Amino acid sequence: MTLSNTYLINLLETVKKRNSGEPEFIQAVTEVLETLEPVIDKRPDFVEAGVLDRLVEPERQILFRVPWVDDNGRVRVNRGFRVQYNSAIGPYKGGIRLHPSVYLGIIKFLGFEQVLKNSLTTLPMGGAKGGSDFDPKGKSDGEVMRFCQSFMTELYRHIGPDCDVPAGDIGTGGREIGFMYGQYKRIMNQFTGVLTGKGLTYGGSLARTEATGYGLCYFTDEMLKANGSGFTGKTVVISGSGNVAIYATAKATELGAKVVALSDSEGYIHDPDGIDLELVKEIKEVKRGRIKDYLNKYPNAIFTTGSSGIWTIPCDIALPCATQNEIDKTSAELLVRNGCIAVAEGANMPSTPEAIEVYLANGVLYGPAKAANAGGVATSGLEMSQNSARLSWSFEEVDSKLKDIMTGIFKACDDAAREYGMEGNYMAGANIAGFLKVAEAMKAQGCV
Ligand code: NDP
Repeated sequence: MTLSNTYLINLLETVKKRNSGEPEFIQAVTEVLETLEPVIDKRPDFVEAGVLDRLVEPERQILFRVPWVDDNGRVRVNRGFRVQYNSAIGPYKGGIRLHPSVYLGIIKFLGFEQVLKNSLTTLPMGGAKGGSDFDPKGKSDGEVMRFCQSFMTELYRHIGPDCDVPAGDIGTGGREIGFMYGQYKRIMNQFTGVLTGKGLTYGGSLARTEATGYGLCYFTDEMLKANGSGFTGKTVVISGSGNVAIYATAKATELGAKVVALSDSEGYIHDPDGIDLELVKEIKEVKRGRIKDYLNKYPNAIFTTGSSGIWTIPCDIALPCATQNEIDKTSAELLVRNGCIAVAEGANMPSTPEAIEVYLANGVLYGPAKAANAGGVATSGLEMSQNSARLSWSFEEVDSKLKDIMTGIFKACDDAAREYGMEGNYMAGANIAGFLKVAEAMKAQGCV
């Protein structure tokens, strides 16, 4: 897509100049502005109120030093980030990513996406994201704890249950959330719902662990059904083997599909008989091992080094659940050539703009991240509600609310795409539906 609206063209130029070293942020903003063109043509009041000029600039960006001591007594220093992106419709909310690739541009792109995603859930949550270039892989529990405590020793002053509620993301699972929560409680002397993704013994919600992967499949199922198809009998390829990938595998299998591949940053495993998920859970969740360890039990499965090759495996449905820009144009063309009918994104921005063009040009059903993976933050919102009310719902109750929310998100994307003349383009639908609520709230609250 190319822009023709002069205001949007100039705005995008400003964004590019101001954020020149941050290609992921520019990529995320460009995609959204391109699909908002018909909205802006219809709603000059948003331009007058400077809604978009404000939306492309985070409300607050916090950068800090995170010193900690490793097992050899050596001082290590990482960089910590929290971008409180937009609070128009609720307290800031978004995960913490711990990965060596983290820098400000990654956190800003994730925060920007989070604003529209949280809006789509219909729950009252603004958008934020945080993280650090710390790598938990290969670190001892003690090292991870000391890092998390140091990280929270600065972060605590910027967050709170009615202000900013962080959660997990890449590298931040139950262990890390536990360490961060303990440190927050110690400093503040308050037992509040300041983080989500907590353990079940201290305020966590049932089904939060499963939520992003399950929600991805609920969304995909709605998208398939609306187009006369479904999961039953389909072959599915899923990238990653972390939280999202594992529970997407579980739900896709439950819905009648066969998942034949998973990956990590070292390579991918292809098991044409269908992935043994219990084994993967043991390798990844219990032993914190590598996906290639799968071969120890299934020597006939195939392990290939390098993660992008996973998209050469023929499949009906592709669910990228690892990281940003993991499907490029070539991989997208391969998926199309091999008969893939749907791509739905568990990871944030896993498809490059060129890959998305390939899906749309070839009639591949495309479920964009901010809609398809919103189940995680939606269930975090449900965890916040339970914490505020000081009660806990059953797994079935949370799962059924999650399913309703994902069905509602699909409908909102479908309706918005149709209303703005782009039927079947769920990316445009997601951007428009997510934007409208935030834009109305920003306009109503004046120039802040
Ligand atoms: P995890 O840390 O649990 O798992 C991440 C998986 O992706 C691992 O298998 C990891 O392999 C792989 N991976 C990470 N970075 C890379 C890379 N640069 N190249 C190749 N593989 C990589 O994270 P999650 O499952 O929680 O998150 C996965 C994606 O889903 C992210 O994009 C995240 O933002 C998104 N997401 C997560 C939500 C959640 O609730 N957890 C909610 C919404 C979106 P390795 O172990 O080798 O690093």
